[in-house]
Amino acid sequence: MSIYDVAVIGSGPGGYVAAIRCAQLGMKTAIIEKYSTLGGTCLNVGCIPSKALLDSSHHYEHAVKHFEEHGIEIPGEVKVNLEKMIARKQTVIDQTCDGIQFLMKKNNIDVYEGLGSFKDATHITVAKNDGSQETIEAKHTIIATGSKPSTLPFISIDKERVITSTEALKLKEVPKHLVIIGGGVIGLELGQVYRRLGANVSVVEFMDRIIPGMDKALSKELQKAMKKQGVKFYTSHKVTGVTNTGDEVVITADDKKGNPVEFKGDYCLVSVGRRPYTDGLNAEAAGVKINERGQVEVNDHLQTSAANIYAIGDVIKGAMLAHKAEEEGTFVAETLAGQKPHIDYNLIPGVVYTWPEVAAVGKTEEQLKEEGIAYKIGQFPFRALGRARASKDLDGFVKILADKTTDEVLGVHMVGARCADLIAEAVTAMEFRASAEDISRMSHAHPTFTEAIKEAALAATDNRAIHA
Ligand SMILES: Cc1cc2nc3c(=O)[nH]c(=O)nc-3n(C[C@H](O)[C@H](O)[C@H](O)COP(=O)(O)OP(=O)(O)OC[C@H]3O[C@@H](n4cnc5c(N)ncnc54)[C@H](O)[C@@H]3O)c2cc1C
Repeated sequence: MSIYDVAVIGSGPGGYVAAIRCAQLGMKTAIIEKYSTLGGTCLNVGCIPSKALLDSSHHYEHAVKHFEEHGIEIPGEVKVNLEKMIARKQTVIDQTCDGIQFLMKKNNIDVYEGLGSFKDATHITVAKNDGSQETIEAKHTIIATGSKPSTLPFISIDKERVITSTEALKLKEVPKHLVIIGGGVIGLELGQVYRRLGANVSVVEFMDRIIPGMDKALSKELQKAMKKQGVKFYTSHKVTGVTNTGDEVVITADDKKGNPVEFKGDYCLVSVGRRPYTDGLNAEAAGVKINERGQVEVNDHLQTSAANIYAIGDVIKGAMLAHKAEEEGTFVAETLAGQKPHIDYNLIPGVVYTWPEVAAVGKTEEQLKEEGIAYKIGQFPFRALGRARASKDLDGFVKILADKTTDEVLGVHMVGARCADLIAEAVTAMEFRASAEDISRMSHAHPTFTEAIKEAALAATDNRAIHA
């Protein structure tokens, strides 16, 4: 029987990063993955494929709507070849997953393909896809089994017309009318892909705004921008039923006033969140507690109720984000090596990769109000920036929330072009506990979108933005 210092179950961004960091720190490491490709949700059916389709559909939209004003003329009609677009996405996935396989080899990590189940706290049986089984021994185990799409109790996902994000990433046709249940990140990103490709898109959301966890100003601005792009929003609508009638899906809901309404589409994307995944893990055999929400219960050290077993990523509490899972992977590896790592969960950024992009870190205005913290706001619109005017990416703003007395930056919230990358500056500043004035005194290259951050910081310092 092979014996390891650490076995990692699951090869998503949490699991493979944990395995690499363990190996770097000198531990003999194994990783177990039930699918034939490594990389988990993120690489196979999540972050990477969704961004590949967002990029492809963005190119198409530019060609159809914006090339002409740039003086670029295309003789004939610009057409979508969805099959080719999806095939390109698959190539991106394949290359990225192969990259993880290479990293496992490079770091001398043993890869086991099959479902990992605990026999007891130090033994894991791998049920391989060829029907055989192998048991390994591990001093420590890191559970990184991730999550799966969840649904509502009365909706049955048939994967044909009533679909999850996984099927939406490989449709064979552009929907005529895509009805999306849930106005969160995944629904909006995929909704925008198909809107750009020509689908009518309706978003039905239970809450009174889209991207509900983020600062209210971001919800409002993104909804406004996506409405201009032709997406229809039905907020404060409670879905009551979804029926596949063959070529059509009928979605019933109660509107704001409680009146019944009906939506008909050829596809219905159910994106109401994800559930932690522990099926087949046999956690009980190892003494690992799963809570009523289906999450593996962990303490502040990410240790489960079994002292030698840790858990990270989507399968535990907290934001379901790839970079959060990665930080936790590193955290556990370093803890096992006797180090004292730290994660500031307040500084894990959140991003929506629509266009305009949305990004945020730290406290929202609503949270500061609730916590009774006195704050000031500095806001700057992208439309006042030379760089934004050059590319005509005029939607959105940067909003900085700073402590009213100390000027420390408490939250940065932005909607606009390239915000997914811009947010890194805010994270850096907040990690170093910068004040708004600190940011405002840093030189930002001109012309760049980053100048909006400097201008918002100037506005927060003492209302002295230069260009607004
Ligand atoms: C459409 C979509 C878009 C997304 N976009 C983003 C984004 O842009 N940015 C972002 O930060 N996050 C994004 N996410 C979320 C992100 O994918 C997850 O937060 C991330 O993958 C979680 O990582 P993880 O390592 O915890 O688990 P996962 O990536 O879910 O990996 C878990 C792995 O464990 C394996 N596994 C499970 N049980 C067993 C077992 N018993 N034995 C062996 N293997 C097992 C699974 O097969 C899987 O490969 C997106 C998700 C979706 C669905």
